This record gives sequence, C-alpha cells and structure tokens, in this order.
Amino acid sequence: MTNNYVYEFGDSLYLNLTNRCPNRCEFCIRNVKNGVGGSDLRLLKEPTFDELKEDIGLFPLSSYKEVVFCGFGEPTCNLSMMSQVGPWLKHNGCRTRLNTNGLGGLINKRDDVPKLIASYIDCVSISLNASTAELYQEICRSKFGEAAFYAMLDFAKGCVEQGIDTTMSVVDFIGEEEIEACRQLVATTGAKFRVRETIREDTVY
Ligand code: SF4
Repeated sequence: MTNNYVYEFGDSLYLNLTNRCPNRCEFCIRNVKNGVGGSDLRLLKEPTFDELKEDIGLFPLSSYKEVVFCGFGEPTCNLSMMSQVGPWLKHNGCRTRLNTNGLGGLINKRDDVPKLIASYIDCVSISLNASTAELYQEICRSKFGEAAFYAMLDFAKGCVEQGIDTTMSVVDFIGEEEIEACRQLVATTGAKFRVRETIREDTVY
C-alpha cells in the first residue's frame, strides 16, 4: 500500500492529509471501504509538506476547478499541514475548498480556526447531518459528545463572518421532515444549505 495524499475526483483535485477523525459516523464510507473513486486512501503516515508538494506536482494543477481538503478523515485534524499547503496553493492561483465536520475548533482547542483558514480557504462545506445535538450524536458518535453539534454551528457562523463561502449539508436519506428542520437551522447561521446525494457504491474503491 502506498500513501495516496493527492487524488482526482470529478473535475477537482483532492488532498488527503489525515485519516484521523473525532467522529464515528454510522454512514462513514471508511466503515466499509478503503477509498473513493479508485484511490486507496488509507495512510501509513501523514504527509510532510515536501511530500505533498511533490505529489501535487504529478497533477496538472491549473486544470482543476478547485483543490479540496477532504481525504479519508477530518482535514482539520492536520491543521498545521493545511496552514502550510493552503497558502502555497493560493500562491499558485488555486481555488480551495475545505470539506469538514466543522469540529476544527474542538479538535485544535481554539475558537479562531475560521479566522486562521480564511486567507487560504475560499469555500467550506460542513456536514451538518442532523437538526439536534441528540440526533447528531446518535448518528456521528463524536468523542466530544453533544458539544460537537454546537461547536459545528459556531464554526459555520465563524466561517460566514470571515467571508468564506460557507455551505452546510445533509445527506438525502435523513427524510423530508429532518431535511426541512436542518434547512431552518442553517438559515440561523448565514450559511448556504445543500442536500447531498448518498455516495454511490460504484464510485467507492
Ligand atoms: S466526520 Fe467524516 S470522516 Fe469522520 S467519521 Fe464522520 S463521515 Fe467519517
């Protein structure tokens, strides 16, 4: 097995900085698969900045719609690497996106993460997953308990305040009533709302 730090998916380039995550979501594809879109994303170790730059250099960087911090874990678990590669990507003219569970504040024990990332992240997509803390914890089984839900909402508001294009999303299998409750909750944060399709098995490694 090699370390897949960088992979293509659709018209974007994805960075896989870590396999760490404080949640154990019941729908996480890591429960059943080793990767996405044909790439094995289990890491033997997290990348150094030089390794990342070398691997990114194997791809035609300017041809992608955006570069996405995503991977097979929560990117903000490796915030120090994000803060190195993010400015470098912006310097190279890339549009950047962070796909996150919104727990970067709790993970890094600081409440200014949106401010820290605002200079190099253009848009953020936060997995909301549920309309209440209780339901969130039932689905996402965070090591932070129900505090995770409120920290996620604060993170979203912080990103909006920093001028980051912020979207909170749910997966379509949660049902119409819950989707509507989530829509109303997101309206209180200033973020956009999106309903994602459940990831298809045939796109998964
Ligand atoms: S937050 Fe994301 S990576 Fe972490 S367990 Fe949930 S779905 Fe998986």
